[in-house]
Amino acid sequence: MSIIGIDLGTTNSLVAVWEEGQAKIIPNILNKNLTPSVISVDENNEILVGDVAKERQITHPEYTIANFKRFMGADRKFKLGTYTFTPEELSSFILKRLKEDAESYLGEEVIEAVISVPAYFNDAQRKATKRAGELAGLKVERLISEPTAAAIAYGLHQEDDETQFLVFDLGGGTFDISILELFEGVMEVKSIAGDNFLCGEDFNKVLVEYFIETNKLNLKELDNKEVSALYKQAELCKRELSVKDNAAMILRVDEKTFEIALDRIKFEKLAADLIMRLRHPVERALRDADIHASEIEAVILIGGSTRMPLVRNVVSKMFNKLPYSNINPDESVALGACIQGALKERSSDLKELILTDVSPYTLGVEVANRIEGQKYEAGYFLPIIERNSPVPISKVEQLSTISDNQTKIAIKVYQGESRRVENNIFLGELGIVVPKDKAGMQGVALRYTYDINGLLEVEATILSTERKETLIIEKSPGAMTNEEIKERMLALKDIKIHPRDKTENTLILARGERLYEEALGEKREYIAGLLSEFERILSTQDLRLIEKKAKLISKKFDELETYY
Ligand code: AMP
Repeated sequence: MSIIGIDLGTTNSLVAVWEEGQAKIIPNILNKNLTPSVISVDENNEILVGDVAKERQITHPEYTIANFKRFMGADRKFKLGTYTFTPEELSSFILKRLKEDAESYLGEEVIEAVISVPAYFNDAQRKATKRAGELAGLKVERLISEPTAAAIAYGLHQEDDETQFLVFDLGGGTFDISILELFEGVMEVKSIAGDNFLCGEDFNKVLVEYFIETNKLNLKELDNKEVSALYKQAELCKRELSVKDNAAMILRVDEKTFEIALDRIKFEKLAADLIMRLRHPVERALRDADIHASEIEAVILIGGSTRMPLVRNVVSKMFNKLPYSNINPDESVALGACIQGALKERSSDLKELILTDVSPYTLGVEVANRIEGQKYEAGYFLPIIERNSPVPISKVEQLSTISDNQTKIAIKVYQGESRRVENNIFLGELGIVVPKDKAGMQGVALRYTYDINGLLEVEATILSTERKETLIIEKSPGAMTNEEIKERMLALKDIKIHPRDKTENTLILARGERLYEEALGEKREYIAGLLSEFERILSTQDLRLIEKKAKLISKKFDELETYY
């Protein structure tokens, strides 16, 4: 039974499997490799996943949600129609759909997955990802960091010599840099840096601003549909400039047509500030890993936005070498995750690659500091596992009582970088009972173990009695207890998920609705006609006729889409 690899992305998600000696992306029911990470609820209270949901972003914004990955592990709820979901539950719908796609492709049940997470995901975010897998009916014993997965997809784990490489990830949501090192069969993330406010969308913004300025328009005077059509034009123009020297943007406002034409050189000038901003995280990651750009053996590009030649050029200049880009930048993470799955599955005959990440944040405990004489002040942070330490890691610190006859020590676990705990994130608490004694005479050895999946275990040993207590983090932000998971699984069971095999036709209807809303006049009538015709054909339940019509209408929609 195969262990699948899943890239649970901010914009899109993918699933891959190791088959006949190679990693393969499994296409979804629409025969597409990318499944948009978008969820929507329809009129029948059914959950829609992927492309169909994405089509409804404009027509049914209050019933549709995207970009929820960044809230994983946070105490957030999202209202979709009559439902309220956590980010974990939303992710579980995506995972469930990918699991079904894999099952239909493989012709067998899939029970286990390796899921990728950003290298900077903290404990709560990683746990939330594992829980999302469980809610989708998947066993998730391994999480893998996205840059590590990409490096594995390029086979870098098979290098014999010690090497260091950099993963440059410019996606739809964030910009992330990771420096990895392979040493004696151990792959280690040495440092991570990034810019959470820089992504592919910013390049669209630059084009939109240029369009507005050149045509002397005012963005505030355009209605929502015109703005969204303009952004769509910017996306098309940006993609066109990745393969051609020239591209154009067209927008119709009140029966008037506005346009611009530009070439790559102009685009590069417009995006000069963004290009500059790509340099900072690279420099920071190199500094944190204490290496020079010339020591980087290979640079791997991932994330859809690295298809832009201007991004590739700047990377080549920074490192004086051509980056690795022969694997589709959207697909390398899923491919790497499935290779890790295959290595895990066949660990008897294949040595499992040892992967280590860095802990993205410092993990520590609250302590009281002596301020004068016998006076203590609580609220200080004692770091135990420091940021950017390679994991798995286990570290021990000793704490002792601060007053006579003290019988309790409260171990409060925090994550963050501030000297004061109030500015850090509280992860959990453990109360320890110690024998009565003089101040400072009773001690506790506090061991923090951060494992390959980024999960933290806190073990406290009372030195005088050798009694051990393990901290079960009761409330890491947004995480659920096992009981809660069981409860939510039961509740989710009753929620109807739109059948996967009806996706194709539903997508045509949803896309038609969006195009109808975006269009005006004659074009609108034409779309309405196509939709009515398709609805009529659907009611005949003649599968061959439906398939023929679906193809024809999709082609017509494609043609319409190019001219918005
Ligand atoms: P990801 O989150 O990795 O799927 O990346 C999605 C981002 O990649 C979006 O901002 C897209 O606009 C961008 N993108 C995808 N394909 C291209 C392309 N051919 N040229 C430029 N940007 C692209």
